Amino acid sequence: MHSLPQRKRIRTVPEGRQPESLTCILTLLGYQNVPYHLRGYADALGAGIEVQENDLILRTSWVKLSRDQRISGHTQAPSHFSPGAGADYYHLGTYKGLLVLPGQADCLPGLSTYPPYQFIGASLDEVMPVGSDLLSKIVRHSFHIGSCLLPWGQSRPAALSPFDKRAAVITATDVVKGIARMTGMDIMPVSGTIGETDTNLVAKAKAAIQAADDYPFVLLHINGADEASHRLSLAEKQSFLRKIDRVLIPRLTDSPHKFTIVSDHSTDPFTGLHDGVFQEAFTGNI
Ligand SMILES: [Zn+2]
Repeated sequence: MHSLPQRKRIRTVPEGRQPESLTCILTLLGYQNVPYHLRGYADALGAGIEVQENDLILRTSWVKLSRDQRISGHTQAPSHFSPGAGADYYHLGTYKGLLVLPGQADCLPGLSTYPPYQFIGASLDEVMPVGSDLLSKIVRHSFHIGSCLLPWGQSRPAALSPFDKRAAVITATDVVKGIARMTGMDIMPVSGTIGETDTNLVAKAKAAIQAADDYPFVLLHINGADEASHRLSLAEKQSFLRKIDRVLIPRLTDSPHKFTIVSDHSTDPFTGLHDGVFQEAFTGNI
């Protein structure tokens, strides 16, 4: 990556916002004033879950709890979970899910939630949603010894302007599929891509190069480094980044297409937290 000819620092986190994929990727794509409450909706769109205009939609994460009920990381979702009356729950793989509260979008302004990746070490009381009795009831109902469900990323449906070029997207991640659907980009299905460190980078590189023959803009999204950092696994992150250097970059360099590699945000493998305001962008084939 560092041998690519052009390097530039780019601001990906707008003033006053948190480093988070949805805001950062839309900022990289040139969108300004990204709506505050969009994340859960983007995930729902990406996962193909139908929602209505007045629904409240939240991202959820299953978290591990220590003996004194502090968050110690993410954990696999249970095979079945029912949130009870007034809400629908959708499992999105590993620790991830979505909650839809039909007709509850009006409670958005008074609602506070706490993204678990920012609250490692916090007690369950500190991350309990504030402003919706139904949500705190769902969290309590989900509690089992050692784990519980935490909702965050509250949102309601909103519209974004279409992206200014014909564009293709290659991703296995719901939030990026949601961005594609909100902005009118075409999603290219690629088998064996799973949004993790064991994703199929060869298939992704091939699909991106093929799409670039046909589209003026291609967004190739690679998620594994973020997930490894959330697991506090420095070795896994380093070996995945080396794999990107070995497998992906040479294929892109050998193609006739100009490309730029940039992170949406950083994720610290020692804390599991998102950080960074500026990112380095590396451009090849200029
Ligand atoms: Zn992340």
